[in-house]
Amino acid sequence: MCAYQPDAELLLPLLRAPEATAILLDVDGTLAPIVKDARDASVPVPVKTALVKLTRKFALVACVSGRQAEDARRVVGAGGLTYIGGHGSELLRPGESEASVDETLAPWTEPVHEAASEAIRELSGLGIRREDKGAVSALHWRGTPDESASQRALESIAVRAEDNGLVAHWGRKVLEIRPPAPFDKGLGVRKLLTGSGIRNALYIGDDRTDLDAFNALMELNLSGELDGIARVAVESPESPKDLLAAADLLVTGTEGVQALIEDLLGEEA
Ligand SMILES: [Mg+2]
Repeated sequence: MCAYQPDAELLLPLLRAPEATAILLDVDGTLAPIVKDARDASVPVPVKTALVKLTRKFALVACVSGRQAEDARRVVGAGGLTYIGGHGSELLRPGESEASVDETLAPWTEPVHEAASEAIRELSGLGIRREDKGAVSALHWRGTPDESASQRALESIAVRAEDNGLVAHWGRKVLEIRPPAPFDKGLGVRKLLTGSGIRNALYIGDDRTDLDAFNALMELNLSGELDGIARVAVESPESPKDLLAAADLLVTGTEGVQALIEDLLGEEA
């Protein structure tokens, strides 16, 4: 099966007005292939090159990641892009050295980190890896010696976090402990696009958190702030079914994403 089947009708409004179009891309599982240890993730060089070309054609190219914005920029390694990090809680524009962080989340950073420290202390034999992402702490069980035992153990950690007023969020073989304040990729996208003059937006993502961004595009479209929208889901054996169901277009794996980017570039690829 081909990784990417073009949908000319869907992309036409975006390609017709690139000066008013935003291309928004998730990072892990979308631009960077999923790897056992998230710290080892990287974006293939041809994709980096294509991303830089996208910034020359379209009004705005932004990566939207659960990683901290500066970490997302390190992984993607392409200049001229905007980064929304920490699930919509941070914004890093091209040329800026530091991301601006949503100040309402700051008081929750310590309780979140403490909950993650406690989990790592208690579950030390299972090989679960901790990743701090600003306001969020992630506990990864991909590749642990007994993945189902790790997942079961994390279920009780999730319950305790919720009992302590924090939010437990499940992703692809990862439990995230989050502050109880509203922030997600959808709010980040909404904040970025509102008042920007952007009239069309395409979003590509592979996980449940990307559904918030899909919904934001739909709401901005319904309220008349966006004319053309394209919600693209990356299919993999772990894709959440609700993400696939909400998508306008499916591509297969990071190869499919690369093919779509090349299609967006057209003759400039
Ligand atoms: Mg992803």
